[in-house]
Amino acid sequence: MENRPLKKKKSDSDDVKEEEIPINYTNLSPSLYQKTIDLLRSSSICNECIGRQFSYLGTATSNFERAHAVLLGITMECHLILSKTTFEERITLYDQNPIEILDLLAKKADFVPAKKIIDQFKDKKFLFSTLSISSEKNEFKCHLCDNLLLPKSISEIYKLIDLKARNYEFTDFLIGTHLNAAQADKEDEFRARFNLRNGESFKANLNRLIGKKLQEFWEKQPKYEQPGLMITINLEKNGKTDINLRSLPLYFRGRYKKWVRNLPQTHWHCFECRGKGFNKFTKKVCTECGGTGDKYPSSIHDLIGNEFIKATKGETALFHGAGREDIDARCLGSGRSFIIEIRNPKIRNVDLIEVVQFLNEKNKFKIFVDSLISTTKKDIAEIKRLSEFLRKNYNALVYFAQPISENEFEKKLQKAEEILNDSIINQRTPLRVVHRRSDKTRKKKIYSITGKYVDSRHGFFKINSQGGTYIKELIHGDDGRTNPSLSKIFGYSMLCVELDVVEIEDSK
Ligand SMILES: [Zn+2]
Ligand SMILES: [Zn+2]
Repeated sequence: MENRPLKKKKSDSDDVKEEEIPINYTNLSPSLYQKTIDLLRSSSICNECIGRQFSYLGTATSNFERAHAVLLGITMECHLILSKTTFEERITLYDQNPIEILDLLAKKADFVPAKKIIDQFKDKKFLFSTLSISSEKNEFKCHLCDNLLLPKSISEIYKLIDLKARNYEFTDFLIGTHLNAAQADKEDEFRARFNLRNGESFKANLNRLIGKKLQEFWEKQPKYEQPGLMITINLEKNGKTDINLRSLPLYFRGRYKKWVRNLPQTHWHCFECRGKGFNKFTKKVCTECGGTGDKYPSSIHDLIGNEFIKATKGETALFHGAGREDIDARCLGSGRSFIIEIRNPKIRNVDLIEVVQFLNEKNKFKIFVDSLISTTKKDIAEIKRLSEFLRKNYNALVYFAQPISENEFEKKLQKAEEILNDSIINQRTPLRVVHRRSDKTRKKKIYSITGKYVDSRHGFFKINSQGGTYIKELIHGDDGRTNPSLSKIFGYSMLCVELDVVEIEDSK
């Protein structure tokens, strides 16, 4: 091709002379027609995969139509040449035999219009003389997608998705694809080899084809942020497609009261077997938990979570408490805020009144739940943050290591009230939890403390303190890690034998 001069301004100043710069056409890619012919010479490629290589060219159309337009254009060029009157005129298109090009389109792109033109000219043997066009029919297989993007396969996939999605309540959705490495490499290698730079990714192509079908069929819109239903198509190495559906989690907020001791807030594994239920070395049933793998048979998390899993047909329940009481402490008064998170629920419209009735009826001597509402994820951080600052009232029954007279008790109590009321204490992470929490010293506010003599070995205390205060440690001192402590002020070793959270002064 000739070099066409192009005018270019050198700079914006007034005395600019326009300069001619040459464009070297030999560096540009050949036309779409020739490129498509080259691609098909290397492998069989379906219309969708041809169109995808040029998907950034042309708008308001589809990959299938892009391919169809190019293939039909080539076919028409070939037809035009074949229709010329003299043999010499009919012989070449792009220095190639038009019949051979049509044969390529027919076999390697499964392009029907090209097949029809060959049929039309097949009596004119001289056109075919230099070619060995075999009439045997090979099963068409696209090199790039293994026929996955053919309309038939797309239909199968979307029907499978529809079948699975029937279990879910949802209003919008999004589709994602996981390619296996071999599939991704094949496309990359192909594009590098033919210098193809105008195509969308295989994933985007598949997602759009399926998404469009589902959108029409369901009359639901795709949503890119927080879709109600996330559909993942996994293309596995063996050529199979695996469909995975996940719905947006649900969050419910409520308050619980705990009537019993020895019920943890969340599940505890057996320490001995780490929740496995058997000894790692002997493979025998764990003697500590009897094979259940649980340290405690149940938890507040389980009791509440299981009821919600049932109601929503969800997969798992996560429990987020506004702080927690000790396993052996009760939680009374108006209870403690919590959020239960249900992963992969199928039912979203839950009758909360019914759930709470079932829950409370079933666990009537253990826990009581009320104030249930639907909420959002950001509420979790909010209840966690608040729990650090909320004031809490505790009742504690305390045991003295040595007998104490009532007179002595009253004197010491007065001293404790003077020191602790409206004071800040230093509390280093207790020895009993330091294995799972970072070891640091926290400052906690004690608002008030009052006490009552029970007998020579027992006292009863009411403590009002900031959320997150370790009350048992405030009583026994934790080897000096909590300072000051009741034990230190009294000058007696003492132990909290019963603890109840009697009120959490919540915002509500
Ligand atoms: Zn294909
Ligand atoms: Zn065990």
